[in-house]
Amino acid sequence: MRTVVEHQGVVAALFGAPEPVLMKVPDAMGLATSSDIDAPLSLPGFDNSAMDGFAVRAIDLAGATADHPVVLPVGADIPAGRTDDLELEPGTAHRIMTGAPLPSGADAVVPVELTDAAVGPVAAAATVTFTGPVDAGKHIRRAGSDIERGTRALPAGTVIGAPQIGLLSALGIAEVTVARPLRVVVLSTGSELIEPGNALRHGQIYESNGAMLTAAVIEAGATGRHLHFVPDNTADFTTRLDEVADSADLIITSGGVSAGAFEVVKDALSATGTVEFVKVAMQPGMPQGCGLYGSAGGAQVPIITLPGNPVSALVSFEVFIRPALRGAMGLPPHRRRVSARLGADIRSPRGKRQFLRGVLDDGEPAADMVVDPIGPPASHHLRYLAEADALIDVPADVDEVAAGSSVDVLLLR
Ligand code: AMP
Ligand code: MG
Repeated sequence: MRTVVEHQGVVAALFGAPEPVLMKVPDAMGLATSSDIDAPLSLPGFDNSAMDGFAVRAIDLAGATADHPVVLPVGADIPAGRTDDLELEPGTAHRIMTGAPLPSGADAVVPVELTDAAVGPVAAAATVTFTGPVDAGKHIRRAGSDIERGTRALPAGTVIGAPQIGLLSALGIAEVTVARPLRVVVLSTGSELIEPGNALRHGQIYESNGAMLTAAVIEAGATGRHLHFVPDNTADFTTRLDEVADSADLIITSGGVSAGAFEVVKDALSATGTVEFVKVAMQPGMPQGCGLYGSAGGAQVPIITLPGNPVSALVSFEVFIRPALRGAMGLPPHRRRVSARLGADIRSPRGKRQFLRGVLDDGEPAADMVVDPIGPPASHHLRYLAEADALIDVPADVDEVAAGSSVDVLLLR
């Protein structure tokens, strides 16, 4: 039997790094930059006001007090977006808004609230009264104070999220080079399967792995395509694989890999010689298969064949596929591992690494988290999977763990 770590290595080795692609910045959400990105301009691009108020020369307000206020004539109005280069005459003030370019000659902004001017959408009065001095430089955002033109904005390998999209857009960058998202197709097998929305006959079940695994693929940052399932018929199965192999970077199948008499995936792929079927010392998810599928058209595409039990399928995805997919795309693992105290005694089969469903109670302080095991270990209990927010990772050589012990936990959220 293969260990979990060994099989993780085999699965990860199926993938090469996807080539870089140029994408519109918003479409690159969740992907990793392929190269360093330097700022093509400075931010801010020009000295501008940090407040709604009055642009002044600080020296003009030097002697201002409540008893001896300074009154200056108001020159122009400078709203954000004004593009002409304005001058501030000595002994005057311009009314200026947040983000508007500072007029040349001005070296400070006094917020409107500190003057006698009305706040709000009213015309400027002819004069404005200041009851105190202002330091030169006050309430001014200097050009380049956020980022200087030519300096590194994002290093290669940065995962694009909302703040990165904000920075790139502010720098005027519309397109970015990222590691291409891997294209994953998901194909379920089983003659008992019926598509949700249709009536069931006795002995039939709704197909749930396909939609579940496709969602997991998308959450992992790849693109997911959910194929209509095939019955336990090797010709139907390989026909469907051949249809999609050329346009996929990975095929994930579910079902048909254990020890029964109608194991369509195993039957169809064993003979290829490029897909191996192994037992991995874990629970759930012992029967696993992976390798390369050579389509009739000649393409060689990585294929991972998951067991059909829904819990086995999703746990296998979390343990093997998510880290491999993300690693290939240059993305960090996604799921954090933490230590938590076990909320109840558990038993575990000796010789198998067990992944039990758990619910975390993020106690205060966070260092004192408790994880409660939920549901039986059997791998058809979708309800407990849907309730769980963690997998309790019990090492292979352990057969029981007492409540209160520290355990390793893989966070599912
Ligand atoms: P198998 O791995 O094909 O032997 O299937 C193991 C168990 O998982 C059986 O109870 C199947 O009915 C169930 N199963 C297999 N594929 C799916 C699927 N796509 N959706 C829901 N249950 C499935
Ligand atoms: Mg089956």
